[in-house]
Amino acid sequence: MSEIELQNLSKSFGELDAVTDVSLSVRDGELLCLLGPSGCGKSTTMRMISGLETPSSGTVYIGDADVTDEPAYDRDTSMVFQNWALFPYKTVLENVAFGLKMRGMGKQQRRDRASEMLDRVHMDGYESHSPTDLSGGQKQRVALARSLAVDPDVLLLDEPLSNLDKRLREEMEIELKDIREEFQKTFVHVTHNQDEAFTLADRIGIMNDGRLVQVGEPNEVYRDPKNKFVEEFLGDTNFVSGTVSDSDGQYSYLVTEFDSEIRVPVTSKIQPEASLTVSLRPEFMQIAPLTDESTRASHQTRADGNGGGGGVSGTVESTIYRGSSIRHVVDIGGEQLFVEQSVTDQSAIDEGDTVELSWDIDDILLFRPDGTRVRD
Ligand code: ATP
Repeated sequence: MSEIELQNLSKSFGELDAVTDVSLSVRDGELLCLLGPSGCGKSTTMRMISGLETPSSGTVYIGDADVTDEPAYDRDTSMVFQNWALFPYKTVLENVAFGLKMRGMGKQQRRDRASEMLDRVHMDGYESHSPTDLSGGQKQRVALARSLAVDPDVLLLDEPLSNLDKRLREEMEIELKDIREEFQKTFVHVTHNQDEAFTLADRIGIMNDGRLVQVGEPNEVYRDPKNKFVEEFLGDTNFVSGTVSDSDGQYSYLVTEFDSEIRVPVTSKIQPEASLTVSLRPEFMQIAPLTDESTRASHQTRADGNGGGGGVSGTVESTIYRGSSIRHVVDIGGEQLFVEQSVTDQSAIDEGDTVELSWDIDDILLFRPDGTRVRD
């Protein structure tokens, strides 16, 4: 195994800055996912680790060695590509053995090693098949076997599952987890799919527009996003904009675009008249039918200033069953909020119902107009 250290790595293609000033440490034996929207520079970053791309500036260390100027074939890395990159005119076995031949291993040894790797990825019995006869999932297994066969310290996976349908992708995610446990390697895995990143990663590096925005454990980046971009990319959230009207020492009040007041935590960083955007995650909101009693209760809560983040009322516009949860679209003064209700929640909510949405004030995240997060 080897750690990877990227120092101030940048790559430009002519006028285009594909990667800008990325510094990142991938720990020995860690699986780090680079996650971000299409074109944000994930693959280019990975290709600079592998040596397939030369940095415009910055340094790449693998282990203790500065490999920035080393060609790809001299690095102890192996790459798995989205499109598998298998040779169609070679058999499955020959594909897996190919890298071993390049490294000078004898014929019988190559065959034995390639068979062993095919066994490990559950592709034994396919040795003499052509890759063209295989399904996407099988091709990806062969590509994995080929990369593992050369026993690299660092395995680089570039969108390896994105050509697979959802079910197969989930199956392969589990397989990758097993492989990862079995083979003690350092993994860098590029994806634009956050489920995949959350399932596989020890830590996630989120990229946007060529820059590394945040690095952290899945739970950390999800619950504590650094800025609005990360919240939006990971959160599937409701953003509500408003202007701070006043503060009563315990809460500040935000007059929102749908003409309701939302209580937000008081922080010294929020000034009256400030424009802010609140993120209300669908899964952190509660939904309940609005009764006279709940109206009274909610007003009572506001009056004595206790408890949660308060609430807003509206009308259920539509209700979508999603298996383990129900998603309601609630119209609040002409704006739509999405709310996730667990199927185990007993309160029956139907389209057309008047409901109250509530949330815990600790689950509210606040962002400035430039996207930076307001923290205490
Ligand atoms: P995707 O998920 O779509 O592959 P990505 O995040 O991996 O996206 P990159 O492939 O690293 O992004 O590309 C980053 C930017 O650099 C894009 O605008 C892309 O068009 C550009 N780019 C990448 N490789 C080259 C190249 N060889 N020549 C010119 N532009 C390139």
